[in-house]
Amino acid sequence: MKTIMCREAGFDCGHVIKGKSEAEVMKNGIEHVVKEHGFKKEDINAEFKEKVKALIHTS
Ligand SMILES: [Zn+2]
Repeated sequence: MKTIMCREAGFDCGHVIKGKSEAEVMKNGIEHVVKEHGFKKEDINAEFKEKVKALIHTS
């Protein structure tokens, strides 16, 4: 299981994003920030993805 703590990405949010693979947790994370934090598709650039990728926990 791969997880990202939304708080660690700099949001005041207790949500934990989960996925079976790195690709899935990234997809779910992007959906979460778009839906809950008002991100637009154009905000999800390579730099943001790299930053989030570094926050993935594996358990
Ligand atoms: Zn969040």
